[in-house]
Amino acid sequence: MEILRAENLTKIYGTGENQVVALDHVSFSVNKGEFLAIIGPSGSGKSTLLHILGGVDTPTSGKVYMEGTDVYAQKEEQLAIFRRRQVGLIYQFYNLIPVLNVVENMTLPVRMDGRPVNKEHLNELLEILSLKGRENHLPNQLSGGQQQRVSIGRALMNAPAVVLADEPTGNLDSKNSQEIVELLKYSNQKFNQTLIVITHDENIALQADRIIAIEDGKITRDEVIRA
Ligand code: ADP
Ligand code: ADP
Repeated sequence: MEILRAENLTKIYGTGENQVVALDHVSFSVNKGEFLAIIGPSGSGKSTLLHILGGVDTPTSGKVYMEGTDVYAQKEEQLAIFRRRQVGLIYQFYNLIPVLNVVENMTLPVRMDGRPVNKEHLNELLEILSLKGRENHLPNQLSGGQQQRVSIGRALMNAPAVVLADEPTGNLDSKNSQEIVELLKYSNQKFNQTLIVITHDENIALQADRIIAIEDGKITRDEVIRA
């Protein structure tokens, strides 16, 4: 069943001589529960694509449909809700708030959404992410792997339908990287979440159900590798 669809996405940055075509008529559809890896050289448009799918960057033209809803046809207020509730973004450099502890960072989007923290879900995530006992630690008191687990917790706290990760292991050694991938796969399976991961790591791409390769803003390969 389709959950997300990109239709003719084009993104042009800048104007005139400085114009960069970051995405050039990109179309694809993603099924619920699918684990999709996006690969391609640096500067090929992967982050731009992920940001547009996540509601944080607007396409120059083309559309994104989430469960049939035209994401960018929504009013700003609805778009903000889409960002907080329907997608979870994970970055290479964690983007944690330094003065907030583990639990406060994880629950920030929920609280910003004006919703009560689901303690049961919070505790389940702390358990899954091996962050029990670290609840009150600040980011600088944690290792890189732990910080990334907090940022995953933050992305999962709202139980998003789609998790979008941009080089989530780019800053970690291979052992920590595989741990992070295992966690993302676990969540993908347990909650039937759709998982889209940008990666340079072939070992990670090969664990996905499907690989999309992007070059110069265009899809050059779209292959299901696991049914
Ligand atoms: P990737 O994630 O594959 O490395 P990006 O999506 O980050 O690629 O970038 C695609 C192209 O768009 C690159 O040429 C990059 O320099 C350009 N680009 C990305 N973001 C911006 C921006 N905010 N302003 C101008 N150009 C940008
Ligand atoms: P203690 O230091 O007393 O052992 P913990 O830091 O382990 O307490 O936290 C106990 C429980 O309270 C944990 O289940 C955790 O999820 C929750 N918790 C901790 N800090 C916060 C917070 N800032 N907001 C909400 N819940 C929190």
